[in-house]
Amino acid sequence: MTKPDVLILGAGPAGVAAAHRLSQQDQARVAVLERAPRAGGNSTSFQIDGIWCDFGSHRFHPVADPAVIADVKGLLGDDLLLQPRHGRIRLGGRWIHFPLKPLDALLRLPPAFAARLFGDMAMKPFRKKAGRATSFSQVLYDGLGPTISESFYFPYVRKLWGLDPDALAVTLAERRVSAGSVGKILGKMVRMLPGMKGPTTGRFYYPKKGFGQITEAMVGASRAKGVDYGFGTDILRITREGNRVTGVVVKTAEGEELRTADQVFSTIPLTTVVRLMDPPPPPEVVKAAQSIRFRGMILVYLILKTDRFTEYDAHYFPELSIPISRMSEPKNYNSAEGPKGLTILCGELPCDPGEVWWDMSDAEIGRHYVDWLNGLGLPVTCEVARCETRRIGQAYPVYDLDYQRYFETVDRWLSGLDGFLSFGRQGLFAHDNTHHAFAMAYAAAEVLRPDGTIDREGWARHRAEFEHHRVED
Ligand SMILES: Cc1cc2nc3c(=O)[nH]c(=O)nc-3n(C[C@H](O)[C@H](O)[C@H](O)COP(=O)(O)OP(=O)(O)OC[C@H]3O[C@@H](n4cnc5c(N)ncnc54)[C@H](O)[C@@H]3O)c2cc1C
Repeated sequence: MTKPDVLILGAGPAGVAAAHRLSQQDQARVAVLERAPRAGGNSTSFQIDGIWCDFGSHRFHPVADPAVIADVKGLLGDDLLLQPRHGRIRLGGRWIHFPLKPLDALLRLPPAFAARLFGDMAMKPFRKKAGRATSFSQVLYDGLGPTISESFYFPYVRKLWGLDPDALAVTLAERRVSAGSVGKILGKMVRMLPGMKGPTTGRFYYPKKGFGQITEAMVGASRAKGVDYGFGTDILRITREGNRVTGVVVKTAEGEELRTADQVFSTIPLTTVVRLMDPPPPPEVVKAAQSIRFRGMILVYLILKTDRFTEYDAHYFPELSIPISRMSEPKNYNSAEGPKGLTILCGELPCDPGEVWWDMSDAEIGRHYVDWLNGLGLPVTCEVARCETRRIGQAYPVYDLDYQRYFETVDRWLSGLDGFLSFGRQGLFAHDNTHHAFAMAYAAAEVLRPDGTIDREGWARHRAEFEHHRVED
């Protein structure tokens, strides 16, 4: 039997992992179409002045499926480091180790703050409201109480999504807040104690050449097995006859070309898919897709003429006085010996096109960045070489109060198409980690039958599993 043809849209972790898995198992003839000049999507890496940088803090979390971890270890070998997490968070005006450690939290949390936290824990049974929570803020308030909600989560989500916590959906709390009660937070802290720790507790995997080395290694392995990668490809249309997707029209030097396949595996934003569909979907699907929003982000790279700014891998800034949500120092992720006398601070500045920061020059954002750090007691005393930025349009799916019905309208229609499967962070509007994108990709490869059709029941089972994916920070 001839192998089916699979056309994969997008070469982020989901697209690349699907290509890798299909080629490993010799299941299909695979081609990948990617708009960007390189693989990795939001998980890519690149160098600035000899230092490997990511699009914000990226860690490969040890909670990933053991099969996925084994595969990544096999691909990267000694290049995959297991690093201790060593970050800080601002709580109650003090710096606390993050992830939280019992002794550190005990010594550093302002006593009044800690007392309020324990008070919230004691009051939990009386705080619970009748009926189901209807918003992110309500879930947090019920579970964690006012102290941690108001001093950490509420300002943090305001910054990340540009929305009030009352305007965000319950799903966000389910996907993002793994410790939903003070008791669970304490449980996590106890597991950080010596003797209670597993071999990977408080640690993360990180490749020597940046997080993107993981997808690069998958590209290399799958290319060697015949996968064709078309970087810099402009997709013009996705063609269909009735409810069957028949191919993808791409731009070429001569004009355009129709690429046909038994299956199109799409990991590009579902909103883009709706826009590219030819003929267009029914009006209600188009309208629903137009109502789905992604949050953008500016990654701000402050290049400093010093060996190291701090010993910490990441600083988390919940408070609103600094618009940056998190700052990482890439050199501290891979213990790089890397260029002496130079380090970089990567700030994550959540921002959409049209907001004040989006059109600001790099130099101006850099000046603000230095001021924000000075204001938080992290003075920049060395020479600033320059500031560079990168802008990503689809950093986070926005789970506002209405998103669910819009998403379900689009998802239902896309799921009814033959010859088409949408997955990945952008394809399922999933607030996920890279290992979740890999798990989705492996599942997609698993449900592809030798005759090129999809085992839809198998896929439905996997979709139910994806609902349990929880974001690790
Ligand atoms: C700031 C930040 C920090 C994060 N930190 C972590 C972390 O520490 N650990 C972790 O595991 N995960 C982290 N993540 C999540 C991680 O980046 C994603 O889970 C992962 O990149 C999702 O992979 P994906 O392939 O589904 O989507 P993407 O990475 O978004 O890839 C989608 C691909 O589709 C391409 N594409 C889009 N439109 C088109 C088009 N029209 N034509 C062709 N191609 C197109 C894009 O160029 C891209 O390559 C973080 C994300 C962000 C934003």
